[in-house]
Amino acid sequence: MSKQVKIGKVTIGGGAPIAVQSMTNTPTSDAQATLRQIEALAAKGCDIVRASVPDEPSARAFKLICERSPLPVVADIHYDFRMAIAAVENGAAKVRLNPGNLGGEDKLKAVADCIKAHRIPVRVGVNGGSLDKKFAHLPSAEAMCASALEYCGMLEKHGVSDIVISVKSSCVKDMVECNRLLAKRCEYPLHLGVTEAGLYTQGLVKSAVGIGALLLDGIGDTIRVSLTDDPLKEVDAAAEILKAVGRYSKPYAEIIACPTCARTQINVKELAEKVREYTAGIHKNLQIAVMGCIVNGIGESAHCDIGVAGGKERSALFKDGKIIKTVDNKDILDELLKQIDKL
Ligand code: SF4
Repeated sequence: MSKQVKIGKVTIGGGAPIAVQSMTNTPTSDAQATLRQIEALAAKGCDIVRASVPDEPSARAFKLICERSPLPVVADIHYDFRMAIAAVENGAAKVRLNPGNLGGEDKLKAVADCIKAHRIPVRVGVNGGSLDKKFAHLPSAEAMCASALEYCGMLEKHGVSDIVISVKSSCVKDMVECNRLLAKRCEYPLHLGVTEAGLYTQGLVKSAVGIGALLLDGIGDTIRVSLTDDPLKEVDAAAEILKAVGRYSKPYAEIIACPTCARTQINVKELAEKVREYTAGIHKNLQIAVMGCIVNGIGESAHCDIGVAGGKERSALFKDGKIIKTVDNKDILDELLKQIDKL
C-alpha cells in the first residue's frame, strides 16, 4: 500500500478514497476568474485543484486564491525556483515541480527547505515527451520510472519525503506500464493521468483506458483526466471512471439504459437524460433502468431498484425483476420520478 500524504484537508494514498484533480485554465494572475473556476470545479466534485504560477503577478494572486479557495490548491512550477518559494509561502497545499530544472543544487535546496518549513508535499512530474537523454537507451516505461525515482532521490537528499509521483505520457501503454513499475519499486502515492490526451472523446477514452486499467489493478491514489476542453468536464469524466471501476467514494444514482434497437417502444434517450438530470442531486446508491421494450428490458436489468420497460401504449414499471404497475406512455416520466422519490 502507498504512503499517505496530506494535501491541505485531503489525504491521498494508503487506502484513502481516490482524489479527483483538475487544473484551472484562467490566468492565475486574475484571482477572481481563477476563484470562480475553482468554485465551479468544487461544486462538480473536484477534490484538489492545480494552478500554474509562471510569473510574479501570478504568485501575488496565488495568495488570495489559496486564502479563498474551497479546495487545496497545488502550485505548478516550471524552471523558476523563486516562483516555487513564493507559491509555497503564499499558501500552496502542494507544489508540482521537476527538481532537475530548478537551476542547480543550491536552488533545489532552497526550495526543499521552504517546503519542509511549510510541511507540504511535492509532486514530481515526469513527462514522457521531455525525458533526460541519459535514459534514452531504456524502454519508455523503464526510462520514465528511472527518471521519476531519480527526482525522488534528489528531494530525499534534501530531507523531503512527502512526495507524490506522476508519470504522464500521451501513450496509454507506456503510462500504464510505468505506473505498474513504480507501484512495485516505491511506496509514494501515484497521481494517474494520460497527458495531452486530446479533444473530448479521444481524451476521455485514452484516460479511461489508462487510469481505469491501473485502478482495477489497485494502483493509483489521485487522478486527473486531461482534456482539451472545459476543466469541468474533466471532473465529470474522472467521476465516471471512478464509478466504472467501483472506486467512487460517494453514494450516487446509476442510470442503466439500453442501447435501443428495432424493438424499442419509447424514447429511451430522452427519458434516461431526464432521469439523470433529476437524480443528479440524489446522494443515495440506486440503480434505475430505462429500457426500450418489455420483452428483454426487464430481464436485462432485473437487479435494478426501479425500472421502466417500454410498451406500445403502456409501459411497465418494475422492481427487482417484477412488474409493479403499468402506466400510459405519456405518464412514464412522472410515475418513474414518483417511484424514485419513494426509494
Ligand atoms: S431492452 Fe429491448 S429495446 Fe432495448 S436494446 Fe434490448 S431488446 Fe432492444
